[in-house]
Order: sequence, then structure tokens, then C-alpha cells
Amino acid sequence: MSSINTNKRHIIGRYIGEEPGPLLICTAGMHGNEPAGVEALKTVFTLLEREPSVNLDFKYKGRLLGLIGNWRAYSQGKRFIVKDLNRQWTTENVERIRNTDSSQLDSEDRDLLEILNLVEAEIAACKPTHVVLLDLHTTSAGGGIFAIATDEQESIRIATGLHAPVITGLMRGIRGTTLHYFSTENFPVPIAAAAFEAGQHEDPVSVNRSIAAIINCMRSIEAVKPEDVENRHDEILVEYSKNLPKIAEIINVHPIKTDDCFRMKPGYQNFQSVVKGELLAQDRHGEIRSPADALILMPLYQPQGSDGFFLVKAVNSPIYQ
Ligand SMILES: [Zn+2]
Repeated sequence: MSSINTNKRHIIGRYIGEEPGPLLICTAGMHGNEPAGVEALKTVFTLLEREPSVNLDFKYKGRLLGLIGNWRAYSQGKRFIVKDLNRQWTTENVERIRNTDSSQLDSEDRDLLEILNLVEAEIAACKPTHVVLLDLHTTSAGGGIFAIATDEQESIRIATGLHAPVITGLMRGIRGTTLHYFSTENFPVPIAAAAFEAGQHEDPVSVNRSIAAIINCMRSIEAVKPEDVENRHDEILVEYSKNLPKIAEIINVHPIKTDDCFRMKPGYQNFQSVVKGELLAQDRHGEIRSPADALILMPLYQPQGSDGFFLVKAVNSPIYQ
């Protein structure tokens, strides 16, 4: 069994509104080398605590719970200790972890179990109308500001409301992310999930963009009234996104193994155009070329990671409007 103390290490903050409403769970540091979301959540909790004293009409509906995902890796400044926590959220793996003696669990198994215990306890305590998960990330390459949605309408609506380009198709490209598991079939209440990529890991503006995304999310789900929360960071997102596709779909993922010796060609930025046949990377099997004309996302410029790059294409579909 996980102890209460290690569960608590995940909690960044909790804000309980005076009116009933959704439970918004914001996770950050699911990858331990991504501190921007953690800093953003600390700021948002400070803003929420202060708001009622400067705005007497302020009302929050529901609850906000802020969690650090991989706190063990976070405390060491590493992406993960044993394995990528954001690839462990498959139903089979969660079952395995729940049915394994704690002495046999590795670092990320424990993180996953602790997060689940906290989320389940929070749902039981506040009995929310519905739950929204916003998972905050940053990328190793620059220029990576986008939201990731599942194929659910509510997820796409929430992701669009973050005011950044929305990426779909992730659910089919990879397995075991938080977005895969935080769905209504795995919990006793309706759950919609979206992820937000706020930019480069060390870019200080990534914190501001994460704050904007959290506040935009609180507005979209009507936890706060639009006029009640000032969001001076939002224009950074709107300005950044104006020349990018509103919705783009993942068409290709290049997964890597530890012994692949994957090396991305230097200089790629998120949303940079690539052409079919373009040399993107090399590994021990040789050259890796783009299979299509596309835009590149999340080219890997760090030693730890599960995917070398993603390729996306702009989508113009009325269902995403
Ligand atoms: Zn991440």
C-alpha cells in the first residue's frame, strides 16, 4: 500500500469553491523535467486565494486540484526514474499495478498508484457533477505550444478553449498517456481530458502560457465567470497561434527504443514544415526520412524520451469547429 505521506507529495494545491460544480484536476510534472506547469499551478492557487478579497462577487464553482505527476523524478530534475510515466496509463497496466505487492512496484508504478488514489479519494469526497483533467507539459524543442484532445467532443471543446492549436489523433498514435486513461469508462463520473504543451522546458514564458491555459480551462468549464478572472497572459497564446492551424491531426509517430541511438537533425521547431523524403534523424539502423509532406511536432532533443518526432497535418473539419 502507498502511504498517505507519499500520496501527499503529489499535491500542489486544492481550491474548494463555495458552489457545486466540476472537479478540475490539473496535473503537471508528469515528466519530471517539466517544471513550468508546477510553477503555473502554484501561481494560480495564489491568485484564487487572493481573488475573493479583491473581487467581492467572485464565486468558484466546484474544485481545483493541482498535482505533480512524477514527483520522484521531479525532485531529481529528471524526466523519469525507470520509465515514462505518461506511457503507463493503459487499463492492463493499471490493473497490474493495483494487483502487485508494493515491494515489487518501481518508481513510476508508485506514482501512478498514488495519483489514482488521490483522484479517486477527491471524487468520493466532493461528488462532482463531472471531472475535467488538464495535463500540463512542455517540450524539448522550441515553439511547441498546442493543446492535445482525445476524440471526444467535450475534450475537443475544452482543448479549443485553451486558445492554442489543437492536435487530434494522439490516441491512435501512441498508448498509455493520461488522456487514454482519464475517460468516463474508468471512473464513476463523466471525465473529459485534454493536455497542453506550453513551449520549451526552460523558457520562462512557458509558465505564463500554462497559467493562461489553466484560466482558459476554468472559464470553458464555467468554474469561473469570464468577467471574474483577469487573464493577461492569454494574448501570448492568441498572438502565437494566429498563423497556425486551428486543428491538426497526427499522421505519423516515430517511436524509439533506448538502444536505437536516435539523433534528431538539429534545428527543427514545432510546426515547422517538412517534405516527403526529407532527412529528419539518424539511428543505428541508418537514415530516417519523412514519409510525407507534413508539419513536425515534438522533435526529440533530450536524452530520455519514447518518441523521436510526430508528424501532423492541418484538418478542416466542421465537427471540430
Ligand atoms: Zn511532457
